[in-house]
Amino acid sequence: MHPIQMVDLKGQYQKIKTEVNNAIQNVIDSTAFIQGSEVKDFQKELEQYLGVKHVIPCANGTDALQIALMALDLKPDDEIITTGFTFVATVEVVELLKLKPVIVDVEPDSFTISPEAVEKAITPRTRAIVPVHLFGQCANMEKLQDIADRHNLFIIEDAAQALGTDYIYRNGARKKAGTISNIGTTSFFPSKNLGAYGDGGALFTQDNALAEKIRSIANHGMQVRYYYDRIGVNSRLDTLQAGILRVKLKHLDEYNQAREKAASFYDAAFKRHPAIRIPARMPYSTHIFHQYTIQISRDGREELRKSLAESGIPAMIYYPVPLHLQKAYAHLGYREGDSPVTEKLCKTVISLPMHTELDEEQLRYITDKLTGFLS
Ligand SMILES: *Cc1c(COP(=O)(O)O)cnc(C)c1O
Repeated sequence: MHPIQMVDLKGQYQKIKTEVNNAIQNVIDSTAFIQGSEVKDFQKELEQYLGVKHVIPCANGTDALQIALMALDLKPDDEIITTGFTFVATVEVVELLKLKPVIVDVEPDSFTISPEAVEKAITPRTRAIVPVHLFGQCANMEKLQDIADRHNLFIIEDAAQALGTDYIYRNGARKKAGTISNIGTTSFFPSKNLGAYGDGGALFTQDNALAEKIRSIANHGMQVRYYYDRIGVNSRLDTLQAGILRVKLKHLDEYNQAREKAASFYDAAFKRHPAIRIPARMPYSTHIFHQYTIQISRDGREELRKSLAESGIPAMIYYPVPLHLQKAYAHLGYREGDSPVTEKLCKTVISLPMHTELDEEQLRYITDKLTGFLS
């Protein structure tokens, strides 16, 4: 059996090595390292894949969130509602921009932001909601859009973990995650479903005026060269990364299907186990399993993790501490009990190896060891 990894980037690279190496060599031969033609080509191809009018590539997913907020003309202390069960980037950029993060709870099945909690948290200062399509599945966008419409709020979707996921409307229509609301953001961090060989990110929007503004902010606030219309940042996608991403975008659906297949194997092995809760599949979203995350409904998660590690099975806790209880955000004044679902998830979840290269022998070994330990 091949050694089991949390994410197997090497195995994936081996299969596309020639294509990727050629793409890298082409960029080096052109020496157009900054804003070379691959960046524009990748932008166009991703626009087509997502069915969105505008993709604006940038340096990473955190920058994408920051630029999205900068494009909304907010004022200090304007409130941005998001969740504490996610990566730190959202609340971090809100704070950096001197806005106020309002951290609300998630739903127990989907792990995504609770529309009811959002509604309760709205004040006259609320300006935007930032749902995170966590672990590969969309938040409940129709309910959130309804709230946003009634209160005149922006929505920025963080699709860093959901590139390729379909949102499914009640009438059956579909849209790609990140293209549903005012602005979507994503990350091409190597372990993401569409991962570069370094950092990368992008913003999506259907709105022409917003797109122009976002493009300008990502480029020092410039529209005409050396004339600065607004304060911006320097956030570009590397040409080398764009060349690599063009190769990998062609495989994205196949990669997401491979993850889905591994997830189905896990589901079948765990679904009747009394101590394991498998990830729910919500009716309004497909799932591309950026993470396969189960809940252990009894004590001993740390022992389980150790025992798996001793058997050569890596597993990770995404996320061990809710953002509202992190030291850096203590000044926000949240207490234990403010987001009970998030707090419980942080104590009970464990994410299993999930990538495009898992084979049946590995999956059987993982599921046998795990159910063996919990029997
Ligand atoms: C990875 C990730 C980010 C940040 O992306 P970077 O490219 O690492 O800056 C933001 N939000 C979520 C939910 C993520 O998973």
